Amino acid sequence: MNILVTGGLGYIGSHTCLALLEEGHSVIVADNLINSKLKTLDNIKKIANKSLDFHQVDVSNEKSLETIFSSFPIDGIIHFAGLKAVGESVEYPLNYYYNNLVSTIVVARMCERYDVKKLIFSSSATVYGDNEAPFFETMSSLKTTNPYGESKAMCERILIDFARSNPSFSVGILRYFNPIGAHESALIGDSPNGIPNNLMPYLTQVAKGKLKRLRIFGDDYPTIDGTGVRDYIHVMDLAAGHVSALYNLKEGIHIYNLGSGKGTSVLELIQAFEKATKINIPYEIVNRRPGDIASCWANTNKANKELKWIPKRDLLTMCRDSWRFERNH
Ligand code: NAD
Ligand code: UDP
Repeated sequence: MNILVTGGLGYIGSHTCLALLEEGHSVIVADNLINSKLKTLDNIKKIANKSLDFHQVDVSNEKSLETIFSSFPIDGIIHFAGLKAVGESVEYPLNYYYNNLVSTIVVARMCERYDVKKLIFSSSATVYGDNEAPFFETMSSLKTTNPYGESKAMCERILIDFARSNPSFSVGILRYFNPIGAHESALIGDSPNGIPNNLMPYLTQVAKGKLKRLRIFGDDYPTIDGTGVRDYIHVMDLAAGHVSALYNLKEGIHIYNLGSGKGTSVLELIQAFEKATKINIPYEIVNRRPGDIASCWANTNKANKELKWIPKRDLLTMCRDSWRFERNH
């Protein structure tokens, strides 16, 4: 199949491009490089030993995106392109709403205009807000707590209406939990700009000596050891989830949680990282981070069953691969 991957040079997109190439698909990437680097393209080609088409376009620009659709027959779209930093979304809500919503509308319009029957959208566990874990897709009250989360909930809503008006289309909404890890080559991975917000890239930078110590945001949550619990999933397993969705999505709109289905606390993640890498991680307990919830993990039965997708990599492998990528950079 010819698959258009928007945001394909980003963290999850690059691993998914690789998974698609390895399955023998032709991959066309549309990315404006706002949060990625062209070097990733070379690294994907190097690992896969295959080529892919790259177009530096802003997906929210309908005319630019249409040049791709008028030149290639597209069989399916995986729409990763979007802005994703929660704090930044509070500071610049209009940028977040504009970029995330308009790009999704443009992509859906292209599906309609060029009769592309399969569309997969990157949503997030953040749409569950402070519901009680484990999170089920059927939880109807989405309680987002910031513009980023709200933009994802709004995109979901737009795609649900789109799918209802086009019953022959298959639209998959994938709600990711906490992707970490990297391809085992350590050539592609998560490389956020500036000081990382997320736990794993912060932790690997402490391990490397770039940052002094990890600050744990609160140890008084109602969790196993008082620190926040999340559902970490290896990015290669997440990438495989997209391929499974492409193969198994039925007509209509379908929402799936993609996570490991297990909760891990901050302290447990530090312990696993230390075990996997033999590096001691200095840390201190500080105040809770505003907006954080105590626990977030997935019930993944629906994706396991309907997408025939079971994550394979454990927490130690996730830690090892995150560290290998950081060490390589
Ligand atoms: P990323 O920032 O690494 O990748 C996003 C890519 O999209 C980047 O390469 C960026 O340059 C590109 N992009 C952004 N806006 C664009 C536009 N208008 N036109 C063209 N390209 C554009 O992020 P990621 O971690 O790979 O996340 C991919 C998707 O998954 C995002 O939509 C994100 O919101 C969602 N998601 C990520 C996580 C996570 O923890 N990483 C969790 C849940 C959901
Ligand atoms: N966290 C932390 N220190 C950090 C970054 C994160 O203690 O420097 C905690 C955070 O409070 C949460 C967990 O680690 O409990 C995962 O945070 P992350 O930002 O990676 O993911 P999210 O909270 O968006 O799920």
